[in-house]
Amino acid sequence: MSNEKIPYKIYLSEEELPKQWYNVRADMKKKPAPLLNPGTGMPVTAEELGHVFCDELVKQELDETTPYIDIPEEILGFYKMYRPAPLVRAYCLEKALDTPAKIYYKFEGNNTSGSHKLNSAIAQAYYAKKQGLKGVTTETGAGQWGTALSMACSYFDLDCKVYMVKVSYEQKPFRREVMRTYGASVTPSPSMTTEVGKKILTEFPDTNGSLGCAISEAVEAATSQEGYRYVLGSVLSQVLLHQTVIGLETKTAMDKYDIKPDIIIGCAGGGSNLGGLIAPFMGEKLRGEADYRIIAVEPASCPSLTRGVYAYDFCDTGKVCPLQKMYTLGSGFMPSANHAGGLRYHGMSSILSELYDQGLMEARAVEQTAVFEAAQKFARVEGILPAPESSHAIKAAVDEALKCKETGEDKTILFGLTGTGYFDMYAYAAYNDGKMGDYIPTDEELRRSFDTLPKIGK
Ligand SMILES: *Cc1c(COP(=O)(O)O)cnc(C)c1O
Repeated sequence: MSNEKIPYKIYLSEEELPKQWYNVRADMKKKPAPLLNPGTGMPVTAEELGHVFCDELVKQELDETTPYIDIPEEILGFYKMYRPAPLVRAYCLEKALDTPAKIYYKFEGNNTSGSHKLNSAIAQAYYAKKQGLKGVTTETGAGQWGTALSMACSYFDLDCKVYMVKVSYEQKPFRREVMRTYGASVTPSPSMTTEVGKKILTEFPDTNGSLGCAISEAVEAATSQEGYRYVLGSVLSQVLLHQTVIGLETKTAMDKYDIKPDIIIGCAGGGSNLGGLIAPFMGEKLRGEADYRIIAVEPASCPSLTRGVYAYDFCDTGKVCPLQKMYTLGSGFMPSANHAGGLRYHGMSSILSELYDQGLMEARAVEQTAVFEAAQKFARVEGILPAPESSHAIKAAVDEALKCKETGEDKTILFGLTGTGYFDMYAYAAYNDGKMGDYIPTDEELRRSFDTLPKIGK
């Protein structure tokens, strides 16, 4: 099929959808460091994790040897409602940039939650239901994860309690109402409904909240109520596992037309969409079968890979979750009010952190106004109004395509377009009004935050 003209959209049939997730850790010679119990400094056991997470998800979290894990029929059935996600050849963007590069993007925004997060939400809700639980608790920052989880919980008839970062709760009332429409209860965080929330509010009464703080509240709400567990939308290895449907579909679609990407780009908040997109390609790289340039793109305001340290840290401000070795800015780091809410997390997936540390992928940080400039350019020629998070990947893809224009190389660039930006119109308004700033933390600010890293595991 290699001589055929590549269509604008490469779709897969239902039969071609992946039936297994791919666990990239199985092909890593040096595995990510184990999660540690903050109390003892020892690797956490399945039993300890089972107090917080669902049993099957604990199994997936700790499994670093099984390469392929079957996707249960019930989850496949839900995936079929909104998958396959199209792989789009960005002919119009290529033309606008006047580049010889060939640009492709995998679009994950084709569902009501508006992002890739539904891929993991449905899996986590399924395993909670199968375990006979009453419900799940979680945090949400910008609101995409909470929306995805509320959709998944209503599908499986589970109770869903969402702790939403206060500033988003106030700025994004429509996201909140989508979640409530799907039956979730939404509480602004920090709140007086948990001990950790009360403590944070006493210390910082004017806080806008943060993801790390909302996580602490959600974990407390899960562990203090019978029949509840906590679920997390990114960072964890189980989430990266579920998100591999993105990469597996992309690989199948590209193989159909003999397309081999030279460069693979994704935005990186906690690392789940990037980890999912690159997984099968990284697998080939790890097994020595092929080589790809892989680029993680993060906001200059929250630069965990490019300016963070590789160390054990807490996943949450309340220090209740296990310690994870990752590139981190420190769990107390409060990023500035960047508009890409989904990228405002202090740490990075342990899998991606380890791959980055081994030199198997690159990272770059981009500034907010340049990101919105790329987003606008993209929207005007490709039609889709991208999420601010996704636009970080657009920015890097555009930069790489423009480099090709200079050198005359016709490289193939693949990037992940994780979602749509309809709930981010305040951000677009700030950009359109010329009122958007670029906040970059100083070395001194970062150093102060690194000083608070736990002394464990060093
Ligand atoms: C949450 C989110 C991200 C970032 O999360 P990752 O876990 O790093 O993938 C990126 N894009 C969108 C649209 C999101 O909602």
